[in-house]
Amino acid sequence: MNDPRFIYTFDEGDADNRMLLGGKGAGLCAMTQMGLDVPPGFVITTEACIKYFECRRLPESLMGAVRTQIGAIERKTGKGFGSETNPLLISVRSGSAMSMPGMMDTILNLGLNPSSLKGLARATDNPRFAYDAWRRFIQLFGKIALGIDEALFDAAMVAIKRQYGIAQDVDLTAEQLRELSERFLAIVLEQTGAAFPSDPYEQLERSIEAVFRSWNGKRAVDYRRQFRISKEMANGTAVNIVAMVFGNMGADSATGVGFTRNPETGENAIYGEYLTNAQGEDVVAGIRTPKPIADMADEMPGLYRQLIELRGRLEARYKEVQDFEFTIEKGRLYCLQTRNGKMNTRAMVRTSVEMLAEGLLSKEHALLRIAPTQLEQLLVPTLDPKHKAEPLARGLPASPGAASGRIVFDADTAEQRRKAGEKVVLVREETKPEDIHGFFAAQAILTSRGGKTSHAAVVARGMGKPCVSGCDAIRIDVRERHAEVGNMTLHEGDLITVDGTTGCVYLDQMSMVEPEFFPELKTLLSWADELAQLKVYANADTPTDAALALQYGAKGIGLCRTERMFNDPQRLPIVQEMILADSPEARRAAVERLLPMQREDFKSIFKAMAGLPVTVRLLDPPMHEFLPTVSQLEFEISHLRHLRRATRSVAELPDTLRLLDPELPRVYVDILGRLQEGLVRYHQTQRDDALLARGEAMLKKVHQLVEVNPMLGHRGVRLGITYPEIYEMQIRAVLEAAAYCIKEGITTHPEIMVPQVCDAEELRRIKSLADAIKEDVATRQGVEVHFKFGSMVEVVRACLRAGSLAELAEFFSFGTNDLTQATFSFSREDAENKFLPLYVQSGILAQNPFEVLDVEGVGQLMRFAIGWGREKRPDLVVGICGEHGGEPESIRFCQYAGLDYVSCSAPRIPAARLAAAQAKLREKQYHDS
Ligand code: PEP
Ligand code: MG
Repeated sequence: MNDPRFIYTFDEGDADNRMLLGGKGAGLCAMTQMGLDVPPGFVITTEACIKYFECRRLPESLMGAVRTQIGAIERKTGKGFGSETNPLLISVRSGSAMSMPGMMDTILNLGLNPSSLKGLARATDNPRFAYDAWRRFIQLFGKIALGIDEALFDAAMVAIKRQYGIAQDVDLTAEQLRELSERFLAIVLEQTGAAFPSDPYEQLERSIEAVFRSWNGKRAVDYRRQFRISKEMANGTAVNIVAMVFGNMGADSATGVGFTRNPETGENAIYGEYLTNAQGEDVVAGIRTPKPIADMADEMPGLYRQLIELRGRLEARYKEVQDFEFTIEKGRLYCLQTRNGKMNTRAMVRTSVEMLAEGLLSKEHALLRIAPTQLEQLLVPTLDPKHKAEPLARGLPASPGAASGRIVFDADTAEQRRKAGEKVVLVREETKPEDIHGFFAAQAILTSRGGKTSHAAVVARGMGKPCVSGCDAIRIDVRERHAEVGNMTLHEGDLITVDGTTGCVYLDQMSMVEPEFFPELKTLLSWADELAQLKVYANADTPTDAALALQYGAKGIGLCRTERMFNDPQRLPIVQEMILADSPEARRAAVERLLPMQREDFKSIFKAMAGLPVTVRLLDPPMHEFLPTVSQLEFEISHLRHLRRATRSVAELPDTLRLLDPELPRVYVDILGRLQEGLVRYHQTQRDDALLARGEAMLKKVHQLVEVNPMLGHRGVRLGITYPEIYEMQIRAVLEAAAYCIKEGITTHPEIMVPQVCDAEELRRIKSLADAIKEDVATRQGVEVHFKFGSMVEVVRACLRAGSLAELAEFFSFGTNDLTQATFSFSREDAENKFLPLYVQSGILAQNPFEVLDVEGVGQLMRFAIGWGREKRPDLVVGICGEHGGEPESIRFCQYAGLDYVSCSAPRIPAARLAAAQAKLREKQYHDS
């Protein structure tokens, strides 16, 4: 059977076929075909690489075709491969469809042997350069093609420098480099049992094989796994054979790298560095300091003009900022490589906006070229990228951004120290809803347990505060007020920096870069809103959250978690009273005290979101989350009992002293008198009795409320049905707040959402409660409030009964945090800490389903639910408010599944807006994929 075609010259290759020719090969073909000066060469395809792995040798026809093509290069350059007079040297470069910088091998100066070495010395009139190229080639070829340990060559280099008392490689003379080459050749002989191959074709064949092999080298395989590069994205490496050109041929020669625009700022100006009379390695090795490209305008004005022209032509061809390498050999500019430039996010945004204005990009292209997740980093303070500090420990990057502060181990201390003007970082094993004031007070949150959807992570993200979770290298001892990391002890008050973007924790304060919502970002996101179909709402619980969400472009609130309001330190005692109440009347009395507070909350949020929908979720978490834990209470009670005993002992002190010495009480009569007076006054207050009684009552209640599995227990609508006073108060607070706003001329669109619903009957009961309150509010306030009524869809049965739920619900909001948990039967708090990383690493699951929506399972349930729901109610509005609502891949699915909106925490809104636009633009491909 005939082999397919494995070789394409740069004049022939299809420049758009990166899969076949690799990115570098396709680029070289494109540039050659555009008429740019590229040294002659050809590409051996990725198919040849695959064939090599199949047959464990190079395809039969390959080397014959390679010889023909080398012949063609010899003719084009007038040089001879291995020639003693005018040698052709080549580079053998890897290059796959996806850029994998530094992961695969490349060999330079191939074709050198003892005779072509002489030719090179003569042609360059520079024997030192020739010997340097020779020793480098032996070293590179020895390592890559012959598999010799690099350390042996390095040791020989160190030895020769020591022998001649030389500090730097560059100071070696031609003669010393010749001697070094001899030693390198001896290493090759000793290690392989054969002399270094001097036949250039043998060198070439072995180099091609070595480059192919590097595709399956450990580095490359790890890289592909890490960046999830599948076979569909890149399969095998191509090999590019290119005639070498030299930038060290005199003052009219140079070498450099350029960006068509500034990759740090996005500014529309050529950017890069160059060196005259130098080779690429001089730049890489830092031997000479390169000059900014702008200097070339004076030093080599003609060539600078050519470079500017090259820049324009590359951008016009690729419609993308390019990162290119060039060499000037005796006044002739060659382009050796071009690829899409890697820029920081700010530069990406700016270039999108400017390149559209310049007519280079369409709006669609300008939006599609930026990865939405990159935007998340733009709106939070980040560590100064120039820092060199080593992290103290690593955990999960749970909420992006970085902040420094003094360690505190509990929320109360966080609040006190914050009030005293200190910046603090809340460090806990894990957090609970009652820690909320600690979140408000802290700059950042660090937990030693819990995953990216743990309480700490979700709350921190909602507030836009940095959080590192699951940092299990830190062992926290709250009672002793210290934490241990390795053999280091951290104390309360020590300064640390938490980087929630990377998951790293550092000792001391680090310098930061502040975020800003700059004009180009606003422009880009306004285009995204024009093209997107999905609306982006916010998960926001307070007026401050709402204001931030608006600033980031939210079109409403999709989830206002009311429990966050209950955790306010002023309210928590009233909430606890409500929970501890023994009768509906007592409960109602506590609830009534909460009503005006909740009403104020909603009023402020409605005002902040005037004209936009606000979805209020009725209380969701189990009651015991508002109470202290059993161990906390036991600790407090035993303290109070100790205190009682201690005060009694003080009362008995005079008698005790008298026993010891009858004179003693007389000596201390004054002190004892005052102490006893104080104690009498203290006992009269009965403070300790009251505290003890309250503690004991609370402990009893906590024992009663303890559930084996609280997340599946007495929470959500189940709580609302057993204690109707609570939902009644919340609904009243929403509707009365809306009535006040209407009277003040503020348009409000309240939506009431019921959590944890599994049956339509639950909805029916809450709906009739809401309707009755609505009537009452209308009568008392004299205004009619319209509200939408909807259901969270977060338990499996809700999906399966979606048709009947839609008879009552005007909207569904998928709570995919709980729905993922329920669909997998994974506890989200435990899974991320224990087995999920292994599941993902070993490929059982492609992604963490708590981060990226599990389209095949959870997504399937959602599609059923949407279908059945809309069958009953065609205008059913459907959204998502789980963490997935801010994750780009999940947003893509939401577009496909026909959702109306996604809702996510404020800092994720810009990324979600872009992702929503991209999801619409790529909708068709999603159908096909
Ligand atoms: C959900 O389950 O997705 C949700 C939004 O609710 P919570 O995370 O508050 O349980
Ligand atoms: Mg939920």
